[in-house]
Amino acid sequence: MQRAQGTAARPIEYVPVPTSSLTPDRRARIDAALDANPFLAELGALFETADHELALVGGPVRDAVLGRPGNDWDFTTSAVPDDIERIAGRWADAMWDVGREFGTIGLRKGTHQLEITTYRSDDYDAASRKPEVRFGDSIQGDLARRDFAVNAMAIRLPSREFVDLFGGLDDIDRQIIRTPVTPEQSFSDDPLRMMRAARFVAQLGFTASPDVLAAMTEMASRIDIVSAERVRDELNKLLVSAHPVAGLRLLVGTGLAEHVLPELPALILERDEHHRHKDVYEHSLTVLEQAIALEDRLGAQPDLVIRLAALLHDIGKPRTRRFQDGGTVTFHHHDVVGAKLTRKRMRALRYSNEVIDQVAQLVELHLRFHGYGSGEWTDSAVRRYVRDAGDQLERLHILTRADSTTRNQKKAARLQRTYDELEERIAVLAEQEELGSIRPDLDGAQIMAILGIPPGPEVGEAYRFLLDLRMDRGPLSEADATEALQSFWAARD
Ligand code: ATP
Ligand code: MG
Repeated sequence: MQRAQGTAARPIEYVPVPTSSLTPDRRARIDAALDANPFLAELGALFETADHELALVGGPVRDAVLGRPGNDWDFTTSAVPDDIERIAGRWADAMWDVGREFGTIGLRKGTHQLEITTYRSDDYDAASRKPEVRFGDSIQGDLARRDFAVNAMAIRLPSREFVDLFGGLDDIDRQIIRTPVTPEQSFSDDPLRMMRAARFVAQLGFTASPDVLAAMTEMASRIDIVSAERVRDELNKLLVSAHPVAGLRLLVGTGLAEHVLPELPALILERDEHHRHKDVYEHSLTVLEQAIALEDRLGAQPDLVIRLAALLHDIGKPRTRRFQDGGTVTFHHHDVVGAKLTRKRMRALRYSNEVIDQVAQLVELHLRFHGYGSGEWTDSAVRRYVRDAGDQLERLHILTRADSTTRNQKKAARLQRTYDELEERIAVLAEQEELGSIRPDLDGAQIMAILGIPPGPEVGEAYRFLLDLRMDRGPLSEADATEALQSFWAARD
């Protein structure tokens, strides 16, 4: 491929790693995964016949080794996009252009989604906003350009030869995130990889290697050249993962959060010497964990909105903190201020208006329950709570419950009971309101017209008759209701 002008290619610096053997256990697990998906061998055979190399690479290889369920099938190949289309076009059920200039063609085979990408060259360039793409001629070079050793393993097809040039298997054993080349070189080439390191720490429960940690800390500000959308996508994956708190601590600890989500490290308020308030940063992380523990109320999937709301619910606190004379501290209106800051940050990260509205609404309402005391709200206050929460009510229940992080067990139990009561009242009211909103099938004007009577108590009598009928029999057609009304009227003495 053509080399971009003016960018000097540097040789890559390979990090020496011990070679690890593929244990029989792992080999068996991988073979089972391949056997379960015979389309892989078919595709491999097509490329081999066309004298091209094909290998499964990245996420699916890592996940097969870990025994984690994967969802997409990524391949790397010596073939360029035109050849990929020629080789696999007839075999695939559908084919599309994911990014021809990046060498990627998408395919569907049955229910499987596949992405096949031409080998990337292993040249590294000086930092640039958009990662430079040049096609390469070997799988070695392609793997060296990948983000982390655990993502730089491949399985050649159809031979099933396992390729692990950078110690990916060792890293899986030691549960670490490490770059194939030096982290400085890798993160200069694409600073998004620093966010990805935090994302994989969160997804896999691994830790960043010391050199990755040092480079992230040193180079954190480089993230500023990456587009907000790419940063947001990695942040989302981190948040909906199994261990988001570990990923967030890494972002904050390395200083990356200062650039992508500064409101989070800002929660680490210098403690006032009298300890008049709890540590807002640790509290927020605990609330996030507690919200996750309650998340199954929303369904089986991780919920990005409740996680964002839990993490951000107190970001109005640093700005609103006031020390009072009597030795107390207040955070007046931190809910409203927090909702504003939430909108601002989420807009900068290019979240959709829908998600921004939902998260900001939850942040704004997170304190409302505190006015409930030990149950003093009138029915109308309960109704207003429900109306203001709208379709976020279930999430608000989770957020409010998760926001209690007191270590005083009695107090915690009391708060929980009080919230149970509130939910109970909401349920009872909701049922009554639904009944209350039922109307007869004919209204007063229709009754007067049908019976030929003026306004008066008889209209009310007829109305109540129709309402009872509606309760007993469910909705009636206008004709049936009219007939029933007339016989009721005729039978009356
Ligand atoms: P998942 O799809 O489960 O989120 P993944 O490992 O497949 O995880 P993707 O973002 O789909 O991650 O990327 C696919 C593969 O492409 C990665 O495994 C990695 O090898 C490589 N890759 C992706 N983004 C980068 C990047 N910014 N720099 C280097 N390599 C990358
Ligand atoms: Mg993937």
